[in-house]
Amino acid sequence: MPNPKRVSERLFQSPSKYIQGPSAIQNAAKYLESLGRSPLLACDKIVYEIAGKQLIEALQKADFKVTHVEFGGEASSQEVDRLTKLGLENQSSFVIGLGGGKTIDAAKAAANQLKVQCAIIPTTASTDAPCSALSVLYTPEGQFDQYTFFDRNPSIVLVDTSVIAKAPYRFLAAGMGDAIATNVEARLCRTSLNFGGGLPTEVSVAIGTKCEEILLKYGKQAYEANKAKAVTPALEAVVEANTLLSGLGFESGGLAAAHAIHNGFTAIEALHSLLHGEKVAFGTVAQLILVNSPTSVLDTYISFMLSVDLPVTFGQLGIPNVTDEELRSVAKLACAENETIWNMEQLVTEDAVYNSLKAADAAGREYIRRTNWKKDE
Ligand SMILES: [Zn+2]
Repeated sequence: MPNPKRVSERLFQSPSKYIQGPSAIQNAAKYLESLGRSPLLACDKIVYEIAGKQLIEALQKADFKVTHVEFGGEASSQEVDRLTKLGLENQSSFVIGLGGGKTIDAAKAAANQLKVQCAIIPTTASTDAPCSALSVLYTPEGQFDQYTFFDRNPSIVLVDTSVIAKAPYRFLAAGMGDAIATNVEARLCRTSLNFGGGLPTEVSVAIGTKCEEILLKYGKQAYEANKAKAVTPALEAVVEANTLLSGLGFESGGLAAAHAIHNGFTAIEALHSLLHGEKVAFGTVAQLILVNSPTSVLDTYISFMLSVDLPVTFGQLGIPNVTDEELRSVAKLACAENETIWNMEQLVTEDAVYNSLKAADAAGREYIRRTNWKKDE
């Protein structure tokens, strides 16, 4: 049931500040100093080389005392506890999560345990994680564990587009897969409670619509710019759609089947190497089928996804021989009691989800055949 407690308040929440541009890291001290001068900085080895060194240098120049900790790779409660302990030992005044979705989620959870503010600096535009007041935690083995909710959103989200432009373009595409779901999911959740526990506001509806508009207009162009490592207005627009609009849109608008199916996909071992948004993209098509969208609508989304190399068939997901039994276990997880799939007003059953997965693959294959689509080399 979408709104079991009959809540009547509308609610919108967001980070206090969002900063995006090609010199954001270089100018980070100016934006971060309001949070204190002794941050705990979590980033993994690769990100340290790409952006960590530069960030530490910029902060040290402004007299920050940075405690750098190498992120262990999984956003698990064990890793969150480890970061928390280091924050306590070093009396960190705030936490910086620098990197991809898992680093970000672990940093947010650690800041929450430490009861300090949090700054998020994503190095890819691959998920809608940076802006939200929740983390998705996984088991140390990489299985979906739980959503954890915090009292507040990150205080600052700082996005350096010169770093994003150098990241592998697959990340930007995955971010688009995550972001294209925002409007598709939120528009089925107008009468259900969002992640803040209130009803969606008019602005969250507008954000979802704008997010989709940007992706359909500039997604392909931004993807090509990213291949050329070029920061262009199209890339800036898509980075904002993937990070800010998708983040605000899902949190205050609501999620439905696409993300629930993503969580269901964690049941298939072979999909663990895929990025969040790649699985969400496929879940988006399945959700469109679940609510009986006409072929013309399916075509719009499938065509967009293919234009940025997002998977629309089991083959493209890397599971060409997936069994019915495996798909049934995906559907079962997607329909777990606390899943966002129950935000939808439509009738949903495990069996319907299972069928929508098979039909999504079939629709993807049919589109490819009909349009003679071929991947760019
Ligand atoms: Zn997502």
